[in-house]
Amino acid sequence: RDMVSPDADADDRALEGALRPRRLEDFVGQERVREQLSLVLRGAQRRGRAPDHILMSGGPGLGKTTLAMIIAAELGAPLRITSGPAIERSGDLAAVLSTLQEGEVLFLDEIHRMARPAEEMLYVAMEDFRVDVVVGKGPGATAIPLDIAPFTLVGATTRAGLLPAPLRDRFGFTAQMDFYRPDELELILRRSAGLLGVALDDDAAVEIAGRSRGTPRIANRLLRRVRDYAEVNGDGRLTLGTARAALTLYEVDGQGLDRLDRAVLDALLRRFRGGPVGLSTLAVSVGEEPETVEVVAEPFLVRSGLIARTPRGRVATPEAWEHMGVTPPPGAAF
Ligand code: ADP
Repeated sequence: RDMVSPDADADDRALEGALRPRRLEDFVGQERVREQLSLVLRGAQRRGRAPDHILMSGGPGLGKTTLAMIIAAELGAPLRITSGPAIERSGDLAAVLSTLQEGEVLFLDEIHRMARPAEEMLYVAMEDFRVDVVVGKGPGATAIPLDIAPFTLVGATTRAGLLPAPLRDRFGFTAQMDFYRPDELELILRRSAGLLGVALDDDAAVEIAGRSRGTPRIANRLLRRVRDYAEVNGDGRLTLGTARAALTLYEVDGQGLDRLDRAVLDALLRRFRGGPVGLSTLAVSVGEEPETVEVVAEPFLVRSGLIARTPRGRVATPEAWEHMGVTPPPGAAF
């Protein structure tokens, strides 16, 4: 999708490996999560045991995969990566679980999208380090319990609320990943510029950070686009001027809103007179899945103070009317 979609595109994936911090101390921001995690890891190491299962919740591009890799690195443990959509049947999960090494970290991205029968298998594996393998079919089918190596599950989800309670309860610790502050994004941008070998002016870093939707993946992507622009139109130096020109070209506005964000706001203001309107109605009117609007667009719009969630639906704030340059009709809800 657009420049500021927090989901990874091919371009991101090619470079993300190079830009990923490898140790907890290089992981910028998320201070509380870092401290809590560091304690969990050190406690486990002192006891010489695999740490409790860890759930990470937060939007795309906020560093969940990076953190899972860091957890494995800090523990000196091997890492296995899979995702909910890849587990269509419980057999897919059994194949992964039964081949884990002792202490291995299993990163299960988008855990809320795993098949239901697999979920139940996962409960048992998390709690008892056991997998019940079903042999045969129909009335003659029997479950053969199989011990598996103690492992640490690191689950990631865009919203912890999407997980069934019995699954959520089996995690010893939930890391709630939040949007990053502009100064944290600046730090990430400086580090990335260093790794990419580009000269980034301070005011350009501030400008890019301010338009990155609080998301490191977007910050790194915008940095690369500004670099392209600077190489083609200038001497390769990333100045405030090149940053502004490039971001305008890519339709990222002053607050970092992208086309979907603005489409959602525009529909809310013009079609629904500022709301309240239900999320799915809003999604239909911009031609997107409700989940995309809820996970990708809405959290940042709420965080930016442009949309408020009320029991009767989504409502535009006065800032939204102002940001979009639309005059509210008489009687618009705030
Ligand atoms: P998620 O798994 O939540 O979608 P990722 O872990 O893949 O996000 O992070 C996306 C990109 O952002 C990676 O390239 C990573 O280098 C960068 N990144 C994420 N969090 C941080 C951070 N705290 N410090 C530095 N870079 C980060």
